[in-house]
Amino acid sequence: MLEYKELYVGGNWAPPATDRRIHIVSPHSTEPVGSTPEATEQDVDRAVEAARRAFDTGPWPRTEPAERIAAVRRFATAYLARQEELAELISTEMGAPIWFSHVGQVGATLMALDAFLSVAEGYAWEEQRLGSLGNPMVVRREPVGVVGVITPWNVPHFVTVAKLVPALLAGCAVVLKPAPEAPASGLVLAEILHEAGLPEGVVSVLPAGREVGEHLVRHPGVDKIAFTGSTAVGRRIAALCGQDLRRVTLELGGKSAAIVLDDADPSQVAQGLQMASLMNSGQACIAQTRILAPRHRYDEYLDAVAEMVGGLTVGDPLDMANYIGPMVARRQQERVESYIHVGQQEGARLVVGGPGMPDGLDTGWYVRPTLFASVDNGMRIAREEIFGPVLCVIPYEDEDDAVRIANDSDYGLAGTVWTADVDHGLDVARRVRTGTLGINQYMLDFGSPFGGFKASGIGREFGPEGIDAYVELKSIALPFG
Ligand code: NAD
Repeated sequence: MLEYKELYVGGNWAPPATDRRIHIVSPHSTEPVGSTPEATEQDVDRAVEAARRAFDTGPWPRTEPAERIAAVRRFATAYLARQEELAELISTEMGAPIWFSHVGQVGATLMALDAFLSVAEGYAWEEQRLGSLGNPMVVRREPVGVVGVITPWNVPHFVTVAKLVPALLAGCAVVLKPAPEAPASGLVLAEILHEAGLPEGVVSVLPAGREVGEHLVRHPGVDKIAFTGSTAVGRRIAALCGQDLRRVTLELGGKSAAIVLDDADPSQVAQGLQMASLMNSGQACIAQTRILAPRHRYDEYLDAVAEMVGGLTVGDPLDMANYIGPMVARRQQERVESYIHVGQQEGARLVVGGPGMPDGLDTGWYVRPTLFASVDNGMRIAREEIFGPVLCVIPYEDEDDAVRIANDSDYGLAGTVWTADVDHGLDVARRVRTGTLGINQYMLDFGSPFGGFKASGIGREFGPEGIDAYVELKSIALPFG
């Protein structure tokens, strides 16, 4: 059982202010698998107070970057040592298929840690410049302050590390509020951070829901909010931060397009989209859920993708044989099913899957991997983020039409171009208004910026830009001569 008795407040395990608990239920068996304390507003107040002290009067923000890099390296080493157990915990708690927990949850977290450590080594914390009047200047990058980090359940460690680590490298203090669907994944990070030995007050971990998250967002002791989650909540958080001019970065939803050019090999496209569209059982912000196929070869690409989707194994997330696991919660299962009904009502053609439980499963929050054809980009299933294994194949007339459809979205998070001609694919990629793209695969590079255009967010994570998000710039003019 995943049992935690205490919260992590200001670098110490501490009893929660109340006896409220979050009960963790397996998305596979629907049986209880553990529980954690549920943090309350009083716990947030204690954590922010400790973070404020650590930032305003503690040594942490004034340490040499090398010292902070060493602390993050200890965290990375401790995380690596527990990687098997962590992958299993995430799969047990939120239902990610175990193959994905190894590769995309824990594996990606480790790669992100490595990339941040090397970026931090070369980061320009302070630089000398020649001023525009010929005077010497010092430009400094100083920590932004106390950071409230609010994360979703779908890739709980990866999205946390994307914020926590650059914040720590910059010298910030962090109050982390993990999602109530993945509270143990949050508290296990506290154990690992504790092992890394950060100074008093620098990190707190407080699993809780919406109200407590909002208390953190409004807290006058917080200088910046770093949020990953839905666009609706992102809008609310941005509005609240705007009132107080609190800094905010937002990683939000997506409805990304895979542009299949007419020289792409159908079987390679289908094979590549298995990962790019259906990783984490489709519960991925970067999922390529709109597949744009040329009308004159539409059936070839549709057939190849249908064969791939129809062949997916669905079931127990802890079984390596299963590509697709359950949805995180009953609410999410119902939401995905309701979109499958919407697609049918809108007149899209159901090619694979449909409503109901997958064959051979009678418990768990499962949905059938589903493929719709003859989808118009104006349909709700092509415009709204479903967050499950439901894909649309949309026909286009020519390349200009493909780029137009790809860009005709409220979102702009990710995307792919599939082609036999990589240079030509790059030309097409340049025309798509989205934050990250891949040619013939989708891969996040942790040394390069990641984030959204349009309603997919504000700000960037990873690369030096990922540290920029946690610093204030200060210019100091030195006297002439
Ligand atoms: P969500 O927006 O419902 O919740 C995210 C977090 O915000 C949770 O911790 C939740 O408790 C908290 N929260 C909810 N309302 C709040 C409020 N008013 N004030 C403060 N905190 C609040 O999202 P979710 O269902 O947990 O996650 C799925 C969403 O996350 C999808 O839309 C997905 O696209 C997005 N996502 C984006 C990225 C990215 O990098 N762009 C990565 C992963 C997930």
